[in-house]
Amino acid sequence: MYPTLSLYIDGEFIEAGRDAQDVVNPATREVVGRLPLASPADLDRALAAAERAFRRWKTSSPMERSAILRRVAVLTRERHEEIARHITLDQGKVLAEARAEVLGCADHADWHAEECRRIYGRVIPSRDPAVRQFVVREPVGVCAAFTPWNFPFNQAIRKIVAAIGAGCTLILKGPEDSPSAVVALARLFHDAGLPPGVLNIVWGVPAQVSEHLIASPVVRKISFTGSVPVGKRLAALAGAQMKRVTMELGGHAPVVVCEDADLDAACEVITRMKLRNAGQVCVAPTRFYVQRGVYAAMVDRLVARFEAIRVGDGLAPDSDMGPLAHERRVTEMQGFVDDARRSGGTVLTGGRAPRDGGYFFAPTLVGGLRDDARLMTQEPFGPIAPLASFDTLDEVIARANGLPFGLAAYAFTQNVRSAHRLASELEAGMVNLNHAGMALPETPFGGIKDSGIGSEGGSETFDGYLVTKFVTQV
Ligand code: NAD
Repeated sequence: MYPTLSLYIDGEFIEAGRDAQDVVNPATREVVGRLPLASPADLDRALAAAERAFRRWKTSSPMERSAILRRVAVLTRERHEEIARHITLDQGKVLAEARAEVLGCADHADWHAEECRRIYGRVIPSRDPAVRQFVVREPVGVCAAFTPWNFPFNQAIRKIVAAIGAGCTLILKGPEDSPSAVVALARLFHDAGLPPGVLNIVWGVPAQVSEHLIASPVVRKISFTGSVPVGKRLAALAGAQMKRVTMELGGHAPVVVCEDADLDAACEVITRMKLRNAGQVCVAPTRFYVQRGVYAAMVDRLVARFEAIRVGDGLAPDSDMGPLAHERRVTEMQGFVDDARRSGGTVLTGGRAPRDGGYFFAPTLVGGLRDDARLMTQEPFGPIAPLASFDTLDEVIARANGLPFGLAAYAFTQNVRSAHRLASELEAGMVNLNHAGMALPETPFGGIKDSGIGSEGGSETFDGYLVTKFVTQV
């Protein structure tokens, strides 16, 4: 049922003859596959292929790029069921979420197919009638991208369609824990007619691969999605060689629930967004600040909703939430709960593994923590959240902005003045007011402060993959 895994270099799928590592189903702990790892020679071959391919791809017609991206969208829709099942097998999320992830990515491919035909320059009126001055935007060059395991299909395709739509070529290292989605992507682009070398897929020890690729003079741009510490490390390596970066890093999204909010609607959004993908989402609501007058009512509602969630194998039709993606996340969750108890917090629900077998952890709410507690300041990246009360908008905005992160923020209020203030004063790359609606192809996705540099999606999507050239001519 699980596919054969491979490297993809210069248009060739390489399945055997390399060191390999096990891939584990997090719902059962069973080994489902073997992943071949790139040797240093494979990385050099990928670099040479990407450099060679760039010479032609950078001048390819936007119509040619667009047609390939359109075919990728069609093939993604055709193959989505199989790809989704494999994601559930090696990542753990419930099948409905895996399907939604893959189908949503067909829309990303379509959007980039349209937008890449509109990478315009401009003419600047000159001071001298004999002079013509214009600005063109050119592909930056060979890119190296590193994508994580929580949305293995989505995070990889967003980087691929932006890079190749802009006329760049790419070497992408996907997540070794959950690799089937990225191998499926290689197959999709290959079958859609992408020329050899434009996209290359490698696997290995993450730090070794990234250091090898970033050190190469062939690579002109780095794109990474993952944790803040790793992002800072890769950005420093890139900065030392003046290479461009796009960084989509961690967050610790504040949620502000005002007394005048529709509490049932707020609970529905918060629960859905918090427990999607077992909480392993960089934009998941993370710190819940509830105005004092509705704090008790909100706790009751959220506890009831969290306890109604059925935790189980993502392939079982009655599971609402699957396992965590690997064992180290379960250890982390237990660490957050233990620390919260030691810090005087109260576990309102959950706090333990609800069943044996896989890497399961119960949806968990904790009350009574100070703002400097570990759970209030470090990204849990799992199905656990702290609740705290607040009195005034001034106070909660200051507390919400008190961490170095700035990815997503959420707020619920029916007061228009409060909504305006929250929209303008919350320090985040994405602010959700009274609903959640991020990561659409046509909307920019990205963070500020420690949460990152640059945006993916929206009309900003190609900015990180283009350089500006000014031409003046008599
Ligand atoms: P981690 O920091 O070791 O790894 C995160 C991702 O980065 C993984 O995909 C990993 O393969 C990759 N990575 C790690 N070191 C790398 C390096 N030197 N070069 C290139 N890639 C490298 O942690 P983890 O245990 O896999 O994940 C836990 C943490 O990662 C979470 O707490 C969360 O903050 C973060 N994370 C964030 C996102 C996101 O969407 N922003 C996604 C996954 C993980």
